[in-house]
Amino acid sequence: PRKTRVTVVGSGNWGSVAAKLIASNTLRLSSFHDEVRMWVFEETLPSGEKLTDAINRNNENVKYLPGIKLGKNVVADPDLENAVNGANMLVFVTPHQFMEGICRRLVGKVKADVEAISLIKGMEVKMEGPCMISTLISDQLGINCCVLMGANIANEIAVEKFSEATVGYREKKEIAQKWVQLFSTSYFIVTPVQDVEGVELCGTLKNVVAIAAGFVDGLEMGNNTKAAIMRIGLREMKAFSKMLFSSVKDTTFFESCGVADLITTCLGGRNRKVAEAFARSEGKRSFDELEAEMLQGQKLQGVSTAKEVYEVLSHRGWLDFFPLFATVHEICIGTLPPTAIVEHSERTPKM
Ligand code: NAD
Ligand code: 13P
Repeated sequence: PRKTRVTVVGSGNWGSVAAKLIASNTLRLSSFHDEVRMWVFEETLPSGEKLTDAINRNNENVKYLPGIKLGKNVVADPDLENAVNGANMLVFVTPHQFMEGICRRLVGKVKADVEAISLIKGMEVKMEGPCMISTLISDQLGINCCVLMGANIANEIAVEKFSEATVGYREKKEIAQKWVQLFSTSYFIVTPVQDVEGVELCGTLKNVVAIAAGFVDGLEMGNNTKAAIMRIGLREMKAFSKMLFSSVKDTTFFESCGVADLITTCLGGRNRKVAEAFARSEGKRSFDELEAEMLQGQKLQGVSTAKEVYEVLSHRGWLDFFPLFATVHEICIGTLPPTAIVEHSERTPKM
């Protein structure tokens, strides 16, 4: 039988680590082609060299994951159509705001029977309502799409510290098993769960709670307050997910994608870090400025997700049920001060 070819679409901080994990397994497993192609959104480095050339020369993503060897079988490619050509398994891992454009460019360019997985935390809001990124991929490209989410701060997995992740799948358990096989290592334990929407919404919504946790840190309100915000946030994550999709399972919130990802992101994530700086700046700095300055090209997902969630809440008349989610957005756009995170979130939701 022909060997399975894998392409990673995306090469940011997590995208590069995903390529490293996968490349270690394609070398080891005989059913996979050794080479892992990784699509790079091309840019020129301060040295004048193209990022793609630098990655292929050093076997390292010098901009988004410096100091980590990806594996010699990772080949960076700046040409999106070429990168996916002939692939049997596609791993999508870019900041969520770029996925509509990427999908548009891929229509008709991927094999009809290709299997996809999304590692992307975020959603799109359209006229018809919210659309999860895995649904955008499946609808636009006419392919099946699983998700992988978890307590996975990329820099920690890059240096092979132990962590867990959750694969969400719709019907085909055997496909989920193939993804588990492709991602699992001794330090990265992957569990399949039949609940795509639940897994994806956990990964997406925890970024909004992480912004709230960052505000609490910036205001120096302490650990108890932060834990309270995390608890209220988890309650809103569960209620929102179930109100959108009645199929979402309670048990999903206890997987790595749920409470574990919420904890790690509220302790050590980028959303938390930039939100802390925003609260400390007392209205003087915007999220855009702070993101550019503090993350050097990496992207926040929580601020835009808060806006997207807010749109869903206002369209559906649900704002009163989700005081924490609504308040995070209002603080991000400057209509409320950061202190509102506690004053407003502690209101008992009317549900
Ligand atoms: P990142 O934050 O490092 O983002 C930068 C990437 O975006 C770079 O590859 C850059 O080239 C690319 N980019 C910039 N402009 C672009 C454009 N116009 N079109 C396409 N690409 C463009 O990326 P990441 O950390 O790999 O995150 C990708 C997804 O993975 C996000 O949804 C994130 O929430 C999720 N995630 C990240 C982590 C983490 O620790 N970094 C962990 C788990 C999940
Ligand atoms: P941040 O984007 O806030 O760093 O979160 C990373 C993440 O999703 C960890 O699982």
